Amino acid sequence: MSVKTYLKTMPYGPAPEAADAANAWLDRHERKFGLFINNRWVEPSTGEYYDNFNPATGEKLAQTAQAGQPDVDAAVGAAREAFAAWSATPGHARARHLYAIARHLQKHARLLAVLETMDNGKPIRESRDIDVPLLARHFTYHAGWAQLMERELPGYGPVGVVGQIIPWNFPLLMLAWKIAPAIALGNTVVLKPASYTRLTALLFAEIVAEAGLPPGVVNVVTGSSQAGTLIVEHPDVDKIAFTGSTEVGRVLRRLTAGSGKRLSLELGGKSPFVVFDDADLDGAIEGVVDAIWFNQGQVCCAGSRLLVQESVAGRFIEKLKQRMGHLRVGDPLDKAIDIGAIVDQTQWDTIDGWVKRGVTEGAALFQPDIPLPEKGCFYPPTLLTGVEPTASVAQEEIFGPVLVAMTFRTPAEAVALANNTRYGLAASVWSDNVNVALDVARHIKAGTVWINCTNLFDAASGFGGYRESGFGREGGEEGLFEYLRPRWQARPRPALDPAAKADGWGKAPAALPAPVESSSTGADIDRTPKMYIGGKQKRPDGNYSRPVFGPKGERVGEVGEGNRKDIRDAVEAAHAAAKWAALTPYNRAQIMYYIAENLAARADEFARRIAAQTGQAAKAARAEVEASIERLFTAAAWADKLGGTVQETPLRGLTVGLREPVGVIGIACPDEAPLLAFVSLLAPAIARGNTVVIVPSEVHPLAATDFYQVLDTSDVPPGVVNIVTGSRDHLAKVLAEHEDVDALWYFGSAEGSAQVEALSAANMKRTWVGYGLPRDWASEEQGAGEEFLHEATQVKNIWLPSGA
Ligand code: NAP
Repeated sequence: MSVKTYLKTMPYGPAPEAADAANAWLDRHERKFGLFINNRWVEPSTGEYYDNFNPATGEKLAQTAQAGQPDVDAAVGAAREAFAAWSATPGHARARHLYAIARHLQKHARLLAVLETMDNGKPIRESRDIDVPLLARHFTYHAGWAQLMERELPGYGPVGVVGQIIPWNFPLLMLAWKIAPAIALGNTVVLKPASYTRLTALLFAEIVAEAGLPPGVVNVVTGSSQAGTLIVEHPDVDKIAFTGSTEVGRVLRRLTAGSGKRLSLELGGKSPFVVFDDADLDGAIEGVVDAIWFNQGQVCCAGSRLLVQESVAGRFIEKLKQRMGHLRVGDPLDKAIDIGAIVDQTQWDTIDGWVKRGVTEGAALFQPDIPLPEKGCFYPPTLLTGVEPTASVAQEEIFGPVLVAMTFRTPAEAVALANNTRYGLAASVWSDNVNVALDVARHIKAGTVWINCTNLFDAASGFGGYRESGFGREGGEEGLFEYLRPRWQARPRPALDPAAKADGWGKAPAALPAPVESSSTGADIDRTPKMYIGGKQKRPDGNYSRPVFGPKGERVGEVGEGNRKDIRDAVEAAHAAAKWAALTPYNRAQIMYYIAENLAARADEFARRIAAQTGQAAKAARAEVEASIERLFTAAAWADKLGGTVQETPLRGLTVGLREPVGVIGIACPDEAPLLAFVSLLAPAIARGNTVVIVPSEVHPLAATDFYQVLDTSDVPPGVVNIVTGSRDHLAKVLAEHEDVDALWYFGSAEGSAQVEALSAANMKRTWVGYGLPRDWASEEQGAGEEFLHEATQVKNIWLPSGA
């Protein structure tokens, strides 16, 4: 037999990693764990425990506690108590703590990796080479931010006590993504791991205490989803950071609505893996293996939708099938295994259910003829071809080792297919033509796009979703904002009016008279109230208008009474103006300056209008116009200075963080500072490439309706700004329920804020609400701070390796 034949036929011998250290740790705890509060093990008040199993063997590993209300209270209490001292600890001291944690994690790397594999079923190769090194990396990276915080983020303080809830697919990594930035910036934490995988979070807690972190800064509470709910609903928790399914994310959005708690959601995905015919096909095949069979496909950003250019599809699928035949499924502790165990039988059943459904819907099933262990929870690598883009297996997250394949012809079709999902977490694009690859990467709606690579992560590059994959970022400078609050802002504690429960929206802002039917004749002829939609003045759909009164109750004008149809038309016009985002930033800046110039030309007229409505002195009204002009200049300045950054990841090549627009933003303005607030909200939104549907002050809307003419004379393309007047809450409700609105900013009542947050859960739109609390629009910090730019953008990270 030749050497070549030997090499091709030689079987793999077993190469198991020893589990002794992990077993010894479990034994030391008598395989029974309490809750970890204040750096101590605590018995759960319920007296109840849950069995944790190794999914690869079915062997019971340990019992972990089921927390109840008193336990969550104790953990939150401990975090609250620790917060005072921890948030006042100098950044350098916090940096030392984080660095010490990183060093201790490295010291225990092997134990952590083995236990992670035993608890979750993932191959040791992955836990050893990816999960655990990244765990330590996140603490080192964020030690750096603790060190730099006072100098680089002087206007910010920590949010407070943070409740963090994580899934089971990357128990340690998800924990690191959450805990490291939180504590680096002075917050304290109550973390709940997923039920299937609780053990490494407990080991981590022990290591953290060993590293000398003060008691109460990190508390780990194990328990069922109800324990998660208890954390979410706890009144003394200031922020919830959640990673998990979109379904549960939606529940949490509703649970926290109106509470003033900050919320970040890292949710599910159905990420495309796009292969062009000029790609290195063999490289792309290895990419697919990594994209969908890494961690058994139980990866939020798994490249689970393969889109191959038609001209190479046949060849590519054949190569892929061959490659699948060489994958090794088996004991996750074996170092030569590619695919480990599915986390639990329930998950296995769900995966199998999806595969059967795919076949029923007409897909062709391929599973290679490779050995699977007889015992344990193993699922073969699976490929479904002939799948329609609308098939449920092409739309829904399967969260297992199942790839669905489709074809496309042109780059435009690839983008359309890639975006044909409600998610937007990640994408992978393969082409040797850098023009095509970058252009497609720009057009895919996702928080991370890997070009000619996949599933690369680093603490220096934020991770998070567009659309129903959630909001917020973890990692990078962009992720810091999730754990910071501007110093001028206390935790909002909105006082909801109990009498406002009937429709939930609270009282109208003032005793407004009932709308009346519009008349377009007589003395009002030049004041016929109109909407501003798609660059045109349009009569309100319902043909109703509402009078506008001055401070003494005198009638000073009329505006249209907008309804559902007007909002729909406005949203449509805003979408039709999407090319605004593609205009050069210089062009957008010029238009912003032009708006300012035209407003300045009519400053006296605007000042008189403000004074007539609000009763302000002429000087104050004039100052409001001047401040509005300045806001437009500020926005113009930012139009071409916030493009993004090169992220300092270990990639040989470029990781580029781009600040993209959010899309169509609905804005409901407050009643105070009717022109200044309107402009302060509108200007940064459009300067950063968004298009808007804006509802001006309900009580003093006339400055905004006069603004139509300013827009008309300033070269603003039709549809970029759409103005709908009427009842703020009625219109905000329509915007909140609208599936095609990407974000909603609302500055009305506390009750309205609660409604906006709750209703926006339907399509997971981003919200920014005022909770009915005062904001000084004239202040630079409160009326034009970084917050505005943050809300007007979302970060996409593009990874582009280089090398000849
Ligand atoms: P899940 O069912 O949403 O659970 C996630 C966590 O939430 C678990 O700790 C769970 O506790 C808890 N939980 C469930 N219902 C809750 C409720 N009503 N209130 C409070 N907490 C609740 O998700 P999973 O099945 O563990 O994880 C898979 C999902 O995570 C996938 O959709 C995946 O895409 C997503 N994921 C996203 C990212 C990202 O960065 N975007 C990363 C990883 C995973 P129990 O375990 O006790 O039920």
